[in-house]
Amino acid sequence: MDYKALAERLLPGEYPSLASYEEKYPPRDLPKGAQVTRLAPSPTGFIHLGNLFAAIVNERIAHQSGGILYLRIEDTDLKRKVEGAVEAVKNALRYFDIKFDEGAEIDGDNTYAPWYQRQRAEIYRAFVKHLIEIGRAYPCFCTEEELTKLREEQTAKKEITGYYGKYARCRNLSEEEIYKNLDAGKPFVIRLKSMGNPENKIKFRDAIKGEITVTENDQDVVILKSDGIPTYHFAHAIDDHFMRTTLVIRGEEWLASLPIHIELFDVLGFERPRYGHNCSLMKQDGDTRRKLSKRKDPELSLEFYRKEGYYARAVKVYMLTLLNSNFEEWYLKNPEKPLEEFKFTAEKMSKSGTLFDIDKLNDISKNELSKLSAEEMFDFLKSWADEFGTEAQKGYFEDRDKMLKVLTLCMGIGGKKRRKDFTTASQAMDFIRYFFEKPASYEEYRVDGETKRTILEGFLAKYDPADDSQAWFAKIKEIAAENGFAAEMKDYKASPEAYRGSVADVAEVLRIATTGKANTPDLWTIQQILGEEETKARIGAAM
Ligand code: GLU
Repeated sequence: MDYKALAERLLPGEYPSLASYEEKYPPRDLPKGAQVTRLAPSPTGFIHLGNLFAAIVNERIAHQSGGILYLRIEDTDLKRKVEGAVEAVKNALRYFDIKFDEGAEIDGDNTYAPWYQRQRAEIYRAFVKHLIEIGRAYPCFCTEEELTKLREEQTAKKEITGYYGKYARCRNLSEEEIYKNLDAGKPFVIRLKSMGNPENKIKFRDAIKGEITVTENDQDVVILKSDGIPTYHFAHAIDDHFMRTTLVIRGEEWLASLPIHIELFDVLGFERPRYGHNCSLMKQDGDTRRKLSKRKDPELSLEFYRKEGYYARAVKVYMLTLLNSNFEEWYLKNPEKPLEEFKFTAEKMSKSGTLFDIDKLNDISKNELSKLSAEEMFDFLKSWADEFGTEAQKGYFEDRDKMLKVLTLCMGIGGKKRRKDFTTASQAMDFIRYFFEKPASYEEYRVDGETKRTILEGFLAKYDPADDSQAWFAKIKEIAAENGFAAEMKDYKASPEAYRGSVADVAEVLRIATTGKANTPDLWTIQQILGEEETKARIGAAM
């Protein structure tokens, strides 16, 4: 068969020489040991925890080694493409402080551009043409229906599905048959002519999973689709070679395709990058563990963390806890240090499924937020509210002094123990709502309506905003005593039957009336922050 003529017929025209690409995208001039890693999302608009997981690993490994992290957009599948998806990727990752050195829409060196696969069509085709010329790729005219039938036939016979060996019908078409199909205008794809034998095993060292054995590929995979756009497999080989990636960290769902990639790098004459296959994030669902799912688990989407207002450092701390088995211990010893000082290693990553537990993340979040100063919390909440808050919530920040007082109180700053009530910005904003808006509803009072009224009336009669907290509390005790409640807790504990309740019940009535809630930080301070007029108005309204 005249492969050269066939290549010319299938991909007509002059393409730059293969050597010219090697010159155009030369090996990177980096110090020894520096790793070049990448994030290669498809622009589907859905950025998930798995992406962040991979991003953190790639970022750490690149920057720890003095290397490069770049962003490549894998947009070969137009059906899945969504407007604004690249912006979404960048926003999501910026929130978690993942910094790219180069790549799509990144202000950096563009030696290895273009960063969008659709703009790289010429490179892919030049190499496909070369593979046809050397007899290692061929056109396949099988239709979707024929391939479906083949798959069904193989499944029925319990054989491995796919286009290989005796099933690779178009592999053995004669020159005459090929040209007949082409003349008839039949659409075609280009397949790799695999030379692999599945009886042969390849030993392979995965940067994460360690020593693994894979079977040689014998599938004649599609490398160029009928629209002239490559498949993931082929684009991966070309791009990671010419962008000079040294370490490919990707999801373990790609492990099954590794034999294909090994064969592709070999047939193209490229040196293979190292690979690390990241294990999937699992969720405990009743008695079983399953993969986090887009449909069932909102926490899979990174959008969720921004909308809820998770503190980025907390999410990162949790991710690192999941990613590296020795991180937790390091962090316990170094809680104040920048996370970058932790020495990340791919070898310490989990080799099988990682359990993602949102309760654990929430605990870490509470802990991280409890380390912030009132000013830092102010900035964090404000930036969340500016983007996601209601109009009313945006207004909370107009009186900076008041907000700082609220945060100081609610976070227990200056107290004996820091409080850990805040999990996320949205939850915190909800928590502090009563400082800025009148209660929309009241938790249930534990006293009857008449008692509630007398307590509140008693309070209004005695209330003096100039009272310090002791004087204020003395009055609450008086109100308690006047209404048959024990003024002292110890009296109540000694003979509960002698009282209608204790001073704590009286304080609770005032607390609910002032805030709508039965549980709040110190009520005297709350009333001080609200001021005389507002405190009176609220007690009045509650009556
Ligand atoms: N576009 C692929 C994905 O989103 C990238 C996999 C890889 O990193 O190679 O799954």
